[in-house]
Amino acid sequence: MSGEHVLVCVAWPYANGPLHLGHVAGCYLPPDIQSRFERARGNRVLMVSGSDEHGTPITVAAETQGVSPQDIVDKYHSLNSQALLDLGCLWEPNIDPRGVEYGGSLFNRTSDPEHHQIVSDNFLALLEAGLFEKKVMQQYYEIRDTGGRFLPDRYVEGDCPSCGKGGARGDQCDECGVTYEAHELQNPKSKMNPDADIEIRDTEHLFYRLDLFQKSLELHASERQDVWKSNVRAMTKQWLDMGLRPRAVTRDLEWGIPLPLDGPEWDGKCIYVWFEAVQGYYSCAKLWSKRHAGNNDWEKWWKISEEGVKPRHLYFLGKDNIPFHTVIWPALIMGLNHAAKGLTSEDATSLPGPGELHLEDNVPAMEYLMLSGGQFSKSRKHAVWLPAFLERFDPDTLRYYLSINMPENHDTDFNWPDFVEKINSELIGAYGNFVHRVLTLGVRMPEDRPLSSFENLDYCSEEMNKLMQIHEQVTSSLQRHRYKEALRGVMSAAQMGNQMLQAATPWKFLKDLDGEGAAKSLAKLSFGWRVSRFLSIMTQPFLPFSAQKLWSSLGESGQVSLTSWDSAIDWEVGTKWSNETPIPLFQRLELEDILAQEHDLADDDSSSKVDPTHSVKGGKKKKKEEIKMPEGTTHLDFETFMEVELKVGKIIDVSDHENADKLFVVTIDDGSNDGRTICAGLKEYYTAEQMLGKSVVFVANLKPRKLRGVMSEGMMLAADDGQGGVKLVTIDGDISPGSEVR
Ligand SMILES: [Zn+2]
Repeated sequence: MSGEHVLVCVAWPYANGPLHLGHVAGCYLPPDIQSRFERARGNRVLMVSGSDEHGTPITVAAETQGVSPQDIVDKYHSLNSQALLDLGCLWEPNIDPRGVEYGGSLFNRTSDPEHHQIVSDNFLALLEAGLFEKKVMQQYYEIRDTGGRFLPDRYVEGDCPSCGKGGARGDQCDECGVTYEAHELQNPKSKMNPDADIEIRDTEHLFYRLDLFQKSLELHASERQDVWKSNVRAMTKQWLDMGLRPRAVTRDLEWGIPLPLDGPEWDGKCIYVWFEAVQGYYSCAKLWSKRHAGNNDWEKWWKISEEGVKPRHLYFLGKDNIPFHTVIWPALIMGLNHAAKGLTSEDATSLPGPGELHLEDNVPAMEYLMLSGGQFSKSRKHAVWLPAFLERFDPDTLRYYLSINMPENHDTDFNWPDFVEKINSELIGAYGNFVHRVLTLGVRMPEDRPLSSFENLDYCSEEMNKLMQIHEQVTSSLQRHRYKEALRGVMSAAQMGNQMLQAATPWKFLKDLDGEGAAKSLAKLSFGWRVSRFLSIMTQPFLPFSAQKLWSSLGESGQVSLTSWDSAIDWEVGTKWSNETPIPLFQRLELEDILAQEHDLADDDSSSKVDPTHSVKGGKKKKKEEIKMPEGTTHLDFETFMEVELKVGKIIDVSDHENADKLFVVTIDDGSNDGRTICAGLKEYYTAEQMLGKSVVFVANLKPRKLRGVMSEGMMLAADDGQGGVKLVTIDGDISPGSEVR
């Protein structure tokens, strides 16, 4: 459906450290892909999130680093919001470029005074409706000589009451995922002060009556059975089967939203962070509306219309957060609806109706991305940090890798060799090389006979059908939040394009435009432009930077992100060509360089534990030191020589380098599917015709480098007599391209 109101809710990152790749794969990339896709489909998307700045994760970080909680949240809010923008996430501009009626986005923070106000208002509304109860709670208290303190959950560590593992927090066990009351923890100790005596003391708190919503939530869950993923169904069922109990909404902590209540019993207490941060989805929409749109515009994304038309609510989060979004938050929303109707705890609760706040439509929660087999963890410093990663790598390479490796149904693993392999062989090998080939061949057509003049769709009906099929499949995958499957589908179009070119061999006809078979072959090359345009539109949700680069290289104007999704298979669109020398979309990655950098960074880390963004794996760029060669002749050891990969290649195309008078751009059949391009300074010694068809020896593992805008992937060997004589090293007899020379 087009024009639908879609609220995309993104889990709020704790501002206690930089985001790592596990967060990105689990929470931040999927909603961005979804939002971009929904926008391209013509839907009205409002995306909301922000930094979660209260609670003990922040105070623990502050105490550990010896700074104030405010210092911590200011630092990480700015670091993380910038990193998300650098990753290409649609947090700016705040207003959809199509117009404010199409929505926009807001990445807010829970320290925002207006968020405080909205939460306080909701707190009082729920209190007035009788949806809180007062209870005496038992809480650990750290005894000190002067002025002891209550210990919030994260300040207590012990053994999990469920699985028995050590290192469990006061309120939940990371090992088995169970949550519990502090007094259930075994062998409790103060985390900051393990030798201190601690005891349990009574403290008065308010509890939200989750129990009142048990029936409504069961009904809601039953309506979502066909929509939720199995992990979401299972976790929600587990919670509902246990029976819901009232849950504390206040706690003994200074750092948070102050209670909007008078009385000495509330001194030193604040609103529990779970209760207020989750309301950020709601406050953020209201504040976006107030700051960037009309005051009541938020209701279009939040409320069921009087006619019963519902917006669509999608929540993106990691698996540790599922029950908060399928049980607790829906119970709060229903509570707010309940209170707004003037009902109390005496009245039965119900699912939302017309005019009321809507509940989630899907929670496509992710499993975990692991780091070389272990769980990414902010607190345990086992991570690759997003800000540092983006200092070193193209954001689209990360987006590609995390999408194709997304932990949708089971945990997946991040490791450097796999990252390099997938980027080089899939992203560049299939996609990058295909579009680059189309563009470089297209640019070489004579001006009076551009490639578009060879367009003939009659030759391409098979390819057209294939693309329409892929389009339909990818659309369906994205509607069902299957990102991996969707991206694999998109990439299959590039593979099809490569096969099409390989079969049509259009490079053979560039010098013989009217030869036999030229019309069909060049029609295929021309269709390559359409396949590339298809790829630009279809990769846009996943790879926005390279999609835009490709879009401009194709001679298209404007933003590909504002181009309709269905336009990818609109064959009426006129073929265009840009005469600029195409630049490859991506740079190949070198595993050895990356591992060497990682090694250096890890060394840095052991000597200085200052700032995880700079010292832990994935930190700042380091220039490799140049190895100085001694003067005069040097002896090469055998191993070093053997590292040089020499191979046989057959020259299949030679053309002039547009920006360099002395260079040829030579295409070599090197035995691979895609061949390779080598720039060679041979114009003074050979004509193109003399070179064509020769089997030459080239260095296959020379680092590719750009020569005046053209990527050169190797070097042909030639003999030089020093007096103007230069001859290519050729092969004596027939041998297949790609053969090794020893
Ligand atoms: Zn446990």
